[in-house]
Amino acid sequence: MQIVLATKNRGKLKEFRDMFDEDIISFSEIIGDIDIVEDGSSFKENALIKAREIYKRLGEDYLIVSDDSGISVPLLNGEPNIYSARYAGVNATDRENLLKLIKKLKEKNVKRTKAYYTASIAIVSRYGEYSVHGWMYGEVITTIRGDRGFGYDPIFIPIGYTQTLGELDSTIKREISHRSKALKLAKPIIDLLQKKSI
Ligand code: IMP
Repeated sequence: MQIVLATKNRGKLKEFRDMFDEDIISFSEIIGDIDIVEDGSSFKENALIKAREIYKRLGEDYLIVSDDSGISVPLLNGEPNIYSARYAGVNATDRENLLKLIKKLKEKNVKRTKAYYTASIAIVSRYGEYSVHGWMYGEVITTIRGDRGFGYDPIFIPIGYTQTLGELDSTIKREISHRSKALKLAKPIIDLLQKKSI
């Protein structure tokens, strides 16, 4: 079964490709751009919605892997959470979302506060549906530091570090990220399903 990633997000695609030895393609390379309405109420539901929709369109020769992820700030009642990609509006850029989070933090008069990333990975194939999660804890700050990573990385300092993910080497993010933790759980499931299909 060909593994297909249900994302158009270049940052995520790069991270998935770095973590897998196998050839991973994005659904948009096969069926072009389609818009999937992510109207679930959790990362898990949204990841499953994406994977199911791509599986429905591609069929049973494919194993679909999707990731729904975001950042949560307890001080802001958990915002932006599942709305991380559209925090500043439906078509907002990563930079606009980041600036909105900084603005919200400044309104609370804090320079840094606890935050965490969540990644939910869904796997949908002819063998059924699976989902796993990973988390990365740390703090967000109100100054943008570094240009590595994507999304909220330039204001996120992982626990145990002094630099933001925008400053830290990508190999470090690969070791500690929510996505890599979820992927470590997803990998044996994907391997097993691949073996089953031979
Ligand atoms: P999704 O594509 O609907 O899952 O939205 C994910 C959004 O969460 C991204 O657009 C980013 O804003 C944010 N996000 C998720 N993972 C990361 C990460 O590893 N670094 C920075 N931002 C992230």
